[in-house]
Amino acid sequence: MSEFKYQTPHMPLVPGKPLYALKVGDWKFQKPVVDSSKCSKCGLCWLHCPTQTINEVDTHYDVDLDWCKGCGICADECPVGAIAMVAL
Ligand code: SF4
Ligand code: SF4
Repeated sequence: MSEFKYQTPHMPLVPGKPLYALKVGDWKFQKPVVDSSKCSKCGLCWLHCPTQTINEVDTHYDVDLDWCKGCGICADECPVGAIAMVAL
């Protein structure tokens, strides 16, 4: 197997690891806020998030804002309206 040498300007690409080469958290002008009391843990936000920055926690799904680019797809896809996009 050949050695994997390619690197992005920000961090090395590691086979088998997520491609988190660009920290896109600084791109956003709005952020998602999850109302944990409404979340049914269906996982649709996690499924649709283009940066895979939504994670399951004990009572609900929540967003790691460091990798969230503020696109709002999670809020659009949430079937119970548990995610609100809030201006920064
Ligand atoms: S706003 Fe976009 S990038 Fe941020 S958590 Fe929602 S779907 Fe993911
Ligand atoms: S889509 Fe909405 S209800 Fe489903 S896990 Fe995400 S926040 Fe919870």
